[in-house]
Amino acid sequence: MKTAATGTSVQPHALQPLRLTATHDNLGAEAFGEFQYPTPPLSRPGGAQAELLAEVNKHEADRNLELILAEFQNYQQGVLPTGPGARSLTEFFASVDEKLEPSTAPAPKTQRSDRDILNLLTKRAKTLHIGPANFCWFTDPSRALCLKLAGTPTAGRPLVGMCDSARCPQATHHPCHRPIWAEHAERTKTFLGNLGTTRRTEHARLQADYDRAMRVVAEIDAATTNPFEDPA
Ligand code: SF4
Repeated sequence: MKTAATGTSVQPHALQPLRLTATHDNLGAEAFGEFQYPTPPLSRPGGAQAELLAEVNKHEADRNLELILAEFQNYQQGVLPTGPGARSLTEFFASVDEKLEPSTAPAPKTQRSDRDILNLLTKRAKTLHIGPANFCWFTDPSRALCLKLAGTPTAGRPLVGMCDSARCPQATHHPCHRPIWAEHAERTKTFLGNLGTTRRTEHARLQADYDRAMRVVAEIDAATTNPFEDPA
C-alpha cells in the first residue's frame, strides 16, 4: 500500500498535513477530490500569504483609524497629546476641527457625519505606527530619530524597536501610555534603591531614565486635565 503522499514532492505548504493523513489511494482520491479549501487562494503558492497580508493591512488600517479618532475626540474634550510630536498632532487636530465647523459644512444645517470625520483623519492615520509606549507619526523619514541612529534615513518604515520617543519629533504620548511609563519609573526607582554607592555611572544612567519616565508621566497628567471641567 502506498501512501497518498507518494509522488507529491512539490506542493503548496498548506496541503501537506492533509495528504500525510491519507494512507490509501481511494481514500486519498476521495479526500482530495471532495475537499474544498475555505479560501481558494490557499491552493496556490503565495496566494495564502498575499491574502493574509491584505487582511493584516486592513486590520491595521481599521485599528489606526479607531485610535486616531479616539485621540481626536480626546482633543475635542481638551485632553491633549504630549511628547515631542504633540504640537504637530495638535495642529493637525485643530485643522480638522476647523473643517468640521458648522459654518464650513456643505449645506446649511448639515450635520457632519462620522464618515466626514474619518475622511479627514484617514491620511494621517496611515502614518501611525504603534510603539510600546508611544504613538509614532511617521510623516517624514528624514525626521525619524530611530532611522538616524540606524544610519538608514530614507527607510520606508520606522524602527519601532529602536524608538526613543522622549526625543523623536514624530512621537506622541497619550493617557493610554501612562501606565507603562509609571511602571517603568517605579521599577527604575527600585533598581536605583538597590544600587551600591560605588556604581556611579550606572546610578547616573538609571537616574536619567527615572527622571525621563517621571517627566513623561507628569506631562501626560498635565495634558489630561480637562480644562473645561469645573475643578470644584
Ligand atoms: S524614533 Fe520612534 S517615534 Fe521616532 S520615527 Fe522612530 S519609531 Fe517613530
